[in-house]
Amino acid sequence: MISINVIINEFFKALQSMGSSSMVQWFFRALTLSQALLQSGWPTNYQLTDGDRFDFIVVGSGSAGSVVAARLSEIPEFNVLLVETGGDPPPTSVIPGLFTTLQGTEYDWNYKARFDEGVGLAHPGGFLPYSRGKVLGGSSSTNYLIYSRGVPEDYDKWNRIAPGWGWDSVLHYFKKLEGMTDTTLFKNPRTAYLHSTDGPVKVSRPGTMASTAAIDDIRLDCYEEMGIKRVLEINGPEIVGAARPHFTLYNGRRSSTAEAYLRPAKDRPNLKVAKFSTVTKILIDPHTLQAFGVQVSMNNKKTINVFASKEVIVSAGTINSPKILLQSGIGPQEDLSKLGIKTVADLPVGKNFHDHQAIQLIYKGKQGIETAAQNIVAAPQLDTLPVPVQSGFFRINTTSDYPSVSQPHFQFFNTYIGAAAWPLLMVVCKTVANFDEKLCNSQANANAFNEIDNVLLIMLHPLSRGQVRLASADPSDDPVIDLGYYRDPYDLDVAAEGVKYMNTLINTKYFRNVKGSVPRLSVPGCEDLDWGSHQYWRCYAKNTVASILHAVGTCSMGPNGVVDERLRVHNIGGLRVVDASVIPFIPSGNTNAPVMMIGEKAADMIKADYIKRSKAYDNQIFATFDDILGVER
Ligand SMILES: Cc1cc2nc3c(=O)[nH]c(=O)nc-3n(C[C@H](O)[C@H](O)[C@H](O)COP(=O)(O)OP(=O)(O)OC[C@H]3O[C@@H](n4cnc5c(N)ncnc54)[C@H](O)[C@@H]3O)c2cc1C
Repeated sequence: MISINVIINEFFKALQSMGSSSMVQWFFRALTLSQALLQSGWPTNYQLTDGDRFDFIVVGSGSAGSVVAARLSEIPEFNVLLVETGGDPPPTSVIPGLFTTLQGTEYDWNYKARFDEGVGLAHPGGFLPYSRGKVLGGSSSTNYLIYSRGVPEDYDKWNRIAPGWGWDSVLHYFKKLEGMTDTTLFKNPRTAYLHSTDGPVKVSRPGTMASTAAIDDIRLDCYEEMGIKRVLEINGPEIVGAARPHFTLYNGRRSSTAEAYLRPAKDRPNLKVAKFSTVTKILIDPHTLQAFGVQVSMNNKKTINVFASKEVIVSAGTINSPKILLQSGIGPQEDLSKLGIKTVADLPVGKNFHDHQAIQLIYKGKQGIETAAQNIVAAPQLDTLPVPVQSGFFRINTTSDYPSVSQPHFQFFNTYIGAAAWPLLMVVCKTVANFDEKLCNSQANANAFNEIDNVLLIMLHPLSRGQVRLASADPSDDPVIDLGYYRDPYDLDVAAEGVKYMNTLINTKYFRNVKGSVPRLSVPGCEDLDWGSHQYWRCYAKNTVASILHAVGTCSMGPNGVVDERLRVHNIGGLRVVDASVIPFIPSGNTNAPVMMIGEKAADMIKADYIKRSKAYDNQIFATFDDILGVER
């Protein structure tokens, strides 16, 4: 059956192709969306041929890969190839308000991640749709656009196993990528030093619509009453607090890495972008253990080899980078031998998978269908986020000393939805989260005549770990993604405490005044428990658990991981991994900004390595690059 997201994408593609008609143009201008729909400007497709040679081959054009390829191609002497399975971002990616329409389409790898038995019973079939962007810009072109970076301790913890990644070092790269357009932050010295206006990734906090400005304020007041103070921004110096978040969007366009890095670099003769091309294997000399190229499966089903004289940089993301390494014989020997793959390097590839699991909570607010009007006013605001969103961080009281006192336990996203939006809620509930029909119906009922606050409660530092494995030796088979949620009992205890704390939202003044409540949802596996008891909320957390798709860790950095602190694969020459998979411990916030930061820092490390090496050979050519060497921290 064709999903609603596929239909929406086809509709916008058809509108895009009608772009020259004046009536259609008028229509789009009226919506301030014409730019997003009519402007092209993506890099042209480079047709690879067997035996092509480059200095660097970057695999995957996502949050990290586009950054690496664009930055390396700043050096005119470097010949860079960027290989990407997907094509150009469609209008539904560029237009920020359509972000929910990309999942389940051709722009998504459409993976299914598995729960362990007895976990996630609210998801029929025991799986979670595990979206990953398959398009230029990768998941930065399909994600929910929240801009959040985590707290200093997150990176200081990386630094303890992978020197060079401490907060002082990474802040330089966060600022290098950031084009902050919210001037309020620069008026305050406590936040000003954390930001930059010069970077390519445009970040904004779009003005709230007059009709919903009061809603933002009311919710932030509620959180303040609960002890989560209102702060200027969620990337500020405080580790707990709530605010309207910033987004990677500006002027009605998504600031993906395709937009921010590849469009400006598209005319460089030394950067080639091969779209619709999938890397199936890294070519490694078995004697020297030196990577020297990649095997690529082309759109026409032909397989070719292309070569890299300096390095192959794998940036295919937390699911596909380990898949490519495993297909190339880099991974746990025990697993590889079962599939008949010869081991080249015995490394823990695919292990340490972890993620920000999300527990969805619904709070019923004011009754009265008039709040439905807000949905109608908000719906056309596609050049920004159409609904009010507030986000914040908090800690709970526990006896455990994990995580550190300098890190929050939870992040939350509070999305306000006026009454009668249930048809849309049903679509998201079923297709995006794969929730059980009964659960979706009970959510829809809660919203029939009431406004609701849809709160995603994110456990920031789970101890449980899953794994990405090969299903078979055939590269066209999807990998197995074992989520591993709640394998460590600590996680469920903390999750239940977080839910109970969040439920105190309805004790705040506003919700008391409007007779707010926690609606009774239909949760498989929890029917016989005393509703509202500690046991009930444990069961709720265990069975409704979903994900906000922040997978990390499958090619972790560190001496016991897969790559070293310069992101070079242990024991293999000429091969790096640069993407979310190298993150050893997930940060206290969303992952897009941290991954772009990793791309920036890796690009400087690679430049420094090869400029240094080349200097020994040819001082003349590289004399002009001294300033780049100076950039590296
Ligand atoms: C639906 C969704 C919502 C999210 N919301 C947010 C959010 O609001 N804020 C936030 O900060 N983070 C969010 N995230 C997470 C964030 O976007 C990711 O952590 C980040 O984009 C990962 O970057 P990456 O470079 O590791 O991988 P990706 O950006 O996924 O890039 C990998 C690229 O490699 C390509 N590729 C894969 N395999 C191959 C191959 N074999 N050959 C060639 N190319 C290949 C892919 O097509 C893709 O383009 C979200 C993620 C998703 C999926």
